[in-house]
Amino acid sequence: MAEQLIAPGQVWLVGAGPGDPDLLTRKAERLIAAASVVFYDALVGAGVLALIPQHVRRVSVGKRSGRHSKDQGTIDDLLVEAALAGERVVRLKGGDPSIFGRSAEELEALREHGIEVCVCPGITAASAAAASAGVSLTLRGRSRRLVLATAHLRGEESAGLDWKALADPEATLAIYMGKGQAGTIARELTAAGMAPDTPVLLVENASLPEERRFASRLDLLPLACATATGDGPVVILVGDAVAPARGPAFVEARSEAQLDR
Ligand code: SAH
Repeated sequence: MAEQLIAPGQVWLVGAGPGDPDLLTRKAERLIAAASVVFYDALVGAGVLALIPQHVRRVSVGKRSGRHSKDQGTIDDLLVEAALAGERVVRLKGGDPSIFGRSAEELEALREHGIEVCVCPGITAASAAAASAGVSLTLRGRSRRLVLATAHLRGEESAGLDWKALADPEATLAIYMGKGQAGTIARELTAAGMAPDTPVLLVENASLPEERRFASRLDLLPLACATATGDGPVVILVGDAVAPARGPAFVEARSEAQLDR
């Protein structure tokens, strides 16, 4: 029986993936069906929410940067309360729960109360973005590292980021929550030695029907962010691996060139 997947009083932190319900894991789908209550973030796609059965209570704890509707402490309390009341709890989080998802706080709060909590991973935004663009996040011998970073900075915190380490020509940088900090990112990375023409790929609403992708370069990143993107979540990929020349357009251009010959 589906219900047995989650014991009463147990909590699952479940990755909802980037938005497309087809990118949900089979386990996540089964957990959603087995829950008595689902707490979900604003970034969880409508198609994923549609998979929650009618009889399952759903609670929005919607957080979008700058538009927090419930603070983290309140969310922790709600999860603890539901578990202690014997509910079968699913906490749905956009992408992968362990990547910029505040899951550590929730795990700690639940464990402090002796509540059993498990995690179901999800596809993170950077993976979905690269897949849509038809590029690889790593390149053998060239892009040897993948760095997931956030540029969601409060006040003077940007001074605390190790820009030298981030400006690594052998890495692909995936920047989460960076749209509002595009100017700082471009300025600091170039000041730390990254080439101004380093390829940049912005992907908004990765995996959703409204997805939009923009290829640019590091020094033009602020312009690209300001003019190209709308209201949706944006992940910024930086590095050689995401150059447009490595995407499908290149293959098309190359085959045309071959036809010309
Ligand atoms: N846990 C999530 C990240 C949460 S932080 C994950 O693993 O993907 C929220 C940030 O994730 C957004 O500001 C954006 O940078 C990125 N993001 C999440 N979903 C996205 C999507 N569908 N398309 C592009 N970026 C996305």
